[in-house]
Amino acid sequence: MPDKVPYLDLPAQIRSLRPELDAAIARTLDHCSFCLGPDVAQFEKDFAKFCGAEHCVAFNSGTSALHVAMLLLNVGRDDEVISTPHTFVATSWAISYVGAKPVYVDIDEDTFNLNPALIEKAVTPRTKAIMPVHLYGHPFDIDPILAVAKKHNLPVVEDSAQAHGAKYKGRTIGTFGEISCFSFYPGKNLGACGEGGALVTNNAAYAARARSLREHGSSVRYYHDEVGFNYRMEGIQGAVLGVKLKKLNDWTAGRRRVAHRYHELLKDTPLQLPREAAWAESVYHLYVVRHPRREDLKKHLEANGVGCALHYPLPLHLQKCYASLGYKEGSFPVAEKAARECLSLPIYPEMTDAQVQRVAEVIHDFFRS
Ligand SMILES: *Cc1c(COP(=O)(O)O)cnc(C)c1O
Repeated sequence: MPDKVPYLDLPAQIRSLRPELDAAIARTLDHCSFCLGPDVAQFEKDFAKFCGAEHCVAFNSGTSALHVAMLLLNVGRDDEVISTPHTFVATSWAISYVGAKPVYVDIDEDTFNLNPALIEKAVTPRTKAIMPVHLYGHPFDIDPILAVAKKHNLPVVEDSAQAHGAKYKGRTIGTFGEISCFSFYPGKNLGACGEGGALVTNNAAYAARARSLREHGSSVRYYHDEVGFNYRMEGIQGAVLGVKLKKLNDWTAGRRRVAHRYHELLKDTPLQLPREAAWAESVYHLYVVRHPRREDLKKHLEANGVGCALHYPLPLHLQKCYASLGYKEGSFPVAEKAARECLSLPIYPEMTDAQVQRVAEVIHDFFRS
């Protein structure tokens, strides 16, 4: 029996960094700055630089950063935010947390990202922002979205949780919109040893208010300017992320290597493979293929020891939690089809060529039988 190919191999990543992580965590234990502190402050500087941004504010999760982004833009009760139905649910949580309403627009067949051509029809007098997602590590088509946003004087929030370091027309994502939010959930391209997130912006006033909101609405201790939150990043996560950020460019190169091998090895199968737009440099957070017999293929892969996953099996407009929005089956046909056909194959920088070949072999075997 050939070796199994796990869907994700975090232990391999941690093993490769173990001495550096141990040393970084030990330093935090020595100085005991467990909530924010110098390691987090240093990481904020380094990550801002990585994004080419002026400010980075670290959070305890990507979801918290997105929530604060909505507060910074003063999105509130009964306002509307245009977003995508094909994403992880946290994109929409941010909108719901402030009492606003997600207004969905269908996605683009090729990139799974918000279709820029459909946005304008969704704009109403209540629209307060546009929040697209750089899904699977592939940037959304930024220029046409910024053009609609500008025309209607709407801010754009980039949900960059899956796209650390992705490039649009040669420039790193993170400063195209007013605000960009990242997640450092362990399985993301840059992951903490626990939860973490960040808000990135070139707007100094947003950055200052974000710092206050994450720390109980105060900039001077025990004086509270507005109702705030405990959304601080832990000191240990800042230390861990500082170590891992140094590896991120190499890891991205590794992910791209795996993606290109999949392209070569799978191009003659009936699968629809991910397409990288001419203007995009994807960081391949996920490698998502499509096929109408996705369920059978998934069973076949699993039976042969190859891990796989679904991102995402049910679009947000059909989720129980959003029934009150009043959408129905058929509201967003492209997103619904993507949800039925998508299948995420294993992809991570540590994946060996033998592992990629094994996945391809099992897939070829499925289509032969
Ligand atoms: C992971 C993720 C989030 C949420 O980040 P957390 O750090 O898990 O809170 C938000 N949006 C997208 C698209 C994500 O993939």
